[in-house]
Parts: sequence; structure tokens; C-alpha cells
Amino acid sequence: MADGEMRVMWCEKPNQVEVRRVPIYEPGENEVLIRVAYAAVCPWDVRAYTGLSSSVAFPRVLGHEVSGTVASVGSKVKNFTVGQPVCPDMIVKCGTCKACRSGRSNRCRRLTFMQFRGGYADYVCVPEQNVFPLKESTTLKAAAFMEPLACVTRGQTLLELFPGSIELVAGAGPIGLMHMQVAKAFGAQVLISDPIPERLEMAKELGADWVINPEKEDLGKRIQQISPGWGLDAAVVTVGSARLIEQTVPMLAPGGKLNIFAGVYPKDEIRLDPNLIHYGEFSITGSADSTHLDMFHALTFIESGQVRTEPLISHLLPLESLGEGIELVKNHTGLKVMIQVNGG
Ligand SMILES: [Zn+2]
Ligand SMILES: [Zn+2]
Repeated sequence: MADGEMRVMWCEKPNQVEVRRVPIYEPGENEVLIRVAYAAVCPWDVRAYTGLSSSVAFPRVLGHEVSGTVASVGSKVKNFTVGQPVCPDMIVKCGTCKACRSGRSNRCRRLTFMQFRGGYADYVCVPEQNVFPLKESTTLKAAAFMEPLACVTRGQTLLELFPGSIELVAGAGPIGLMHMQVAKAFGAQVLISDPIPERLEMAKELGADWVINPEKEDLGKRIQQISPGWGLDAAVVTVGSARLIEQTVPMLAPGGKLNIFAGVYPKDEIRLDPNLIHYGEFSITGSADSTHLDMFHALTFIESGQVRTEPLISHLLPLESLGEGIELVKNHTGLKVMIQVNGG
């Protein structure tokens, strides 16, 4: 590679990705240039890559779950120094719209994606306000989970768990396994369900109280054994399935709360008996993306060891193998696919 050049994984149009060499970004006065260590592949990246998301414009460079070290800083950047380990938030929120002002910057009306400067590249460049410092003791591999864990933390916060609450986590993929750990950190007891035995094994290893394969065992009966005459204080559906939401709501206990964490595609509808919600005083919530507060909490979970993210990595691939990584996530192979860009 020539001096002053970097690799980016360029997507000219959906389902196409190639390595391109471009000049290394010059950070603006308030920006931080970050040398990418790790960039994870997320189901959102897969959806965007395949062109199924109408809000995603092409050409683009994908990748938003990133960790790395500061390579250089703009003239007005005061709080970061070269070589410092960091995680960037790859979406710039406007900070002034009604969503931002009301504490919901995750729903910003005027957000900017790093369309040509995504994380599947040697470098990313973001405003200083989007950079989170890491402790030296935190591995860059673990920290690359900041963004998805922030989304998870946001969803769990909405469930208002109390110590001893019983929660069902439906789905034991990387996201479900993070939900389970955050719920445990909040003091809940967790039953986690998934049809894939290896995922249930990992759930046990990471501290699940109970695991169940719903294709082999009746979930309703199991919940009645765990919580006789009561039910679930909380539940989160981490897979995009309307049927799963319909099945979960009747298992809630009085005052029970459900979080619809995953978008459902193709679009679908749910049919629920409104009396269940009325007499049960249920709360059905949704959560999407995350704020900087959620990211702060996520990093605290990673740095304290209360949420273990590194064991969720099933594949570590070089940058040029991004296409292969996307295929793995598309086919639900393994758990988290991590692209090792410059990480050692
Ligand atoms: Zn993501
Ligand atoms: Zn905004």
C-alpha cells in the first residue's frame, strides 16, 4: 500500500463489496482519526448490504461496531491523544432536534451516517463528541461490542427489573446472550430460549439460570415450573418474529413488561387479546438503537466484566474477508463475526 493510503471495503451497490485504496482521511478541526482495530458484523449490516433497507444509500462503506486507537486529532480536539484506545459512535446526531432534546438522540430526526467512512476500513474519522475513551485494561476486541451492547442495555432498562425478577430472553444469538448478561447484572433471574443447542451451551457458560430449546420442550410448562401461578416479570424478544411476540405476551405475570427488541422483516402483524394487556397491566415496549448514555453504560458493563463479550466471537476474519463474514451472519452460522482490521 502506498504511503498515505488506506483500505476501505467499498460497496458500490447492494451485494457487492471490494477492497479499494483511498487517501487516509484528514481529520477536521473537531475530528478524531481512529485506526480501526476491530469492526464487528451485525445483522443490520447484512440487511443494509443486501439492499433491503430503503434508508441505506449506495455507494457506501458499512461497519458501525468499531474499536481502535487514536491516530491523529484535529487542532481543536482537547481530550484525546494519539495512541489512546477508543470506541467511536459511527452515527452523528444533530443534538438540537426534538428527539435529541428530549433524551432520545437514538431517534434523531437529522442524523448523519458515515456513508463513505464506515468501520470496515483501516481508519474512521468522527467528531470528538462521538469518541468514547477506553481503559487500558479493556481489550479492543471486547470493546468493539459497545454499540450493540448499548442497544441491549437500552432495551433492558425499559424492563425496570428488580432483583429476583424472572425474565425470558427469547433468542440466544450474540444479542440475546448480551441481554441475558445485562438482566443478570440488574439482579434478574433469566430463562433463555433458542432452538440451537450450541447457543444454549454458551448461555449456560455465561450464567443463564435456565435454558430451554422450545422445539423440544414446552415453554409455557417450563415457565409454570419456574414461577408457579405467576409467570414472567419481563421478557425480551430478540428475534424478528411476530409469532414469538404473540406467544410471549400471555406468559407475562401481572405487571409484566415485554420489549420488542428486533425489527420484524418482512413486515408482519401481531394479533393479541387486548384483555390480556388490560387486566394484566402489561407494558409492551420497543427499543431501537442507542444514545450516548446507553453507550456509556455498555462500556461500564464491558470494563467491569459484568458483561463478557469476547466469548461471543465465533469468527475472526481479516478485512478482505468481509464478504465471507456477511454470508456467515446471513446464514446464522456461529455467533459474532468479528473483522480483525488492524487489531493484534
Ligand atoms: Zn449493530
Ligand atoms: Zn437530533
